[in-house]
Amino acid sequence: MKKRNGQIGSIREFDKKYSYDGKDLGVSFAGGHTIFKVWSPLAERIELRLYQDGQGEQYESHEMAADRNGTWKLELPEVLYGKYYDYRVWNNGEAVLTADPYAVGCSCNGSRSMVVDLRATDPEGFDRDRAPALGAESIIYELHIKDFSYDKESGIPDEFRGRYKAFTVKGEDGREPVCIEHLKALGITHVHLLPFYDYGSVDEAGDDSQFNWGYDPLNYNVPEGSYATDPEDGYVRIRECKEMIQALHENGLRVIMDVVYNHTYSEDSWLNRMVPDYYYRREADGTLANGSACGNDVAAGRAMVDNYIADSVLYWAKEYHVDGFRFDLMGLLTVELMNRIRRELDEAFGPNEKMIYGEPWRADESPMEKGTRAALKENTHYLSEGISVFSDNTRDVLKGHVFYEEEKGFVNGEPGLEEKVLNAVTGWQDGAEDFQPVSCAQIINYVSAHDNFTLWDKLLLSMHKELFVNRAIEETVFYNNYEDVLEANKLAAFICFTCQGYLFLQAGEEFGRTKLGDDNSFMSSPEINMLRWKQAEERKDLVDYYKGLIALRKKLPGLCDKSASAADRVTGKQIHGPGAVSFLVDNRDKGNEEWDRLFILYNAGDASCRVPAPEGEWVILADKKETNCRRAVKNMDGMIEAEPHSGLMLGRKAGTR
Ligand code: CA
Repeated sequence: MKKRNGQIGSIREFDKKYSYDGKDLGVSFAGGHTIFKVWSPLAERIELRLYQDGQGEQYESHEMAADRNGTWKLELPEVLYGKYYDYRVWNNGEAVLTADPYAVGCSCNGSRSMVVDLRATDPEGFDRDRAPALGAESIIYELHIKDFSYDKESGIPDEFRGRYKAFTVKGEDGREPVCIEHLKALGITHVHLLPFYDYGSVDEAGDDSQFNWGYDPLNYNVPEGSYATDPEDGYVRIRECKEMIQALHENGLRVIMDVVYNHTYSEDSWLNRMVPDYYYRREADGTLANGSACGNDVAAGRAMVDNYIADSVLYWAKEYHVDGFRFDLMGLLTVELMNRIRRELDEAFGPNEKMIYGEPWRADESPMEKGTRAALKENTHYLSEGISVFSDNTRDVLKGHVFYEEEKGFVNGEPGLEEKVLNAVTGWQDGAEDFQPVSCAQIINYVSAHDNFTLWDKLLLSMHKELFVNRAIEETVFYNNYEDVLEANKLAAFICFTCQGYLFLQAGEEFGRTKLGDDNSFMSSPEINMLRWKQAEERKDLVDYYKGLIALRKKLPGLCDKSASAADRVTGKQIHGPGAVSFLVDNRDKGNEEWDRLFILYNAGDASCRVPAPEGEWVILADKKETNCRRAVKNMDGMIEAEPHSGLMLGRKAGTR
């Protein structure tokens, strides 16, 4: 047994001495043998323990042998597919049990790892599974797996409701289940799924009434078990997760995975048990850093942390055919790591084939490694152009600050925001705020996401305070229709969908989804969180408004353009009065365009807005009533009019100038 130094000391020295770039950590197979390998430079001794299943006693144990760069290796002369395992690791004379941080399969609740024959987990036809081609625009729909089909009205059979399998249900007699039909018909191009790696907050052996968003990673390279029909058999979650992705692809949708590498469920993680004090940041006084507000910050910027994260991302892209990644609290990761992930994904799959975006912020300061730069919004210009950030500027200017429910934005009546709304149109490239995107390709426009109030709840709470004077509120208050809230909702969508950059919406925003005023529903009931499919039917008018905006957007090269010169297409920005702004968009596209110029007007004001009719032959492409239409412009003595609380888009027929 090799005696090792039990202290890390200088991270730089430690990384220089021990960092390991091999891709064989975890379990690999060669010539009928199974090879186990872990990285654990401080360990004095490591023992592998094997089990027949996820629960029973071990049937064998084996000493690992120290190998190069702090790795430990064991080769057994048999193929151990389907067996479970864990490690006993001795650090500083003390032994701890741990699962394998590099495991690709696990037992129920994840404390035991599994030896997996990955090819045996591929659903029929998975080798031929391809993502649908990218179109003119990428429009992202943020969805939680359980929310999607937990409602009995979803059209999904009970045994699959709330699970991976729901996405695979085919309709009978040519009719799809309600939820799937909705997803396909909306026109979105990417489904962004809230975390579906194995997380810790839901008991996989427990009942269906549990709920969590899943921002508490346990096994990074294994799918969550509570979405599987059988969490006990480690193969089932892997196969069903792949089936979900395959089914989404077949339905013309790309799949984005929400990933949370900035913190773990608990600091007592497999990573920390394997190499104590390496994977987390500490403050100068020795306490754990907590920039995530979740108790720990993973120390991105250290060699083996970065390798771990990059390898994990690449694994999901290759093995599960995931088409993009949304990084939670990306501001806790580094610019260098994010750019590396961009580069490695590009090398493996082609330039920008896989989408990358993230939250360019953190909950609090975090002590970063020397020589690294936090992937914060202020550093957007250091990020590759192929890495986008959520634009909270656009979100907040449109509907008001997310934390103060009564605070309003442009669409719900806050005055004085005209200029900022015009800044949002070109993705804040004019330097109006404290960051500088390289191009609008780095901007994700949105007005609602899983965090904070739904758009509907925010608008209702801020526009109808009288309903909430007495906090004992009837649920129906949230489900009722309010003409002014519907108008504000439409206007918010209209503006969002006419800004340059990528587009993102929270599932259900298109039918006024409510969480009954719950602004942090991460562990609220599934009933609070789920999508209510009856609402999609009842608010068909609002859904159609979104559908039209989505369809129209894809036909407008002037808005879809992601190049650095896209902002130059927007000219003639004007403020017409309180809440009323307009601009022109050069919509030319090598002569193939139907409309060579767009005139767009937002009128959040309480009065109609009259502006001089622009020259040429114009048609209405969208207004308060309808989107993706073609109606004649009503020219009133050289003036056109936009109704209060509405957007107006005109297109000039190419060549009619
Ligand atoms: Ca789990």
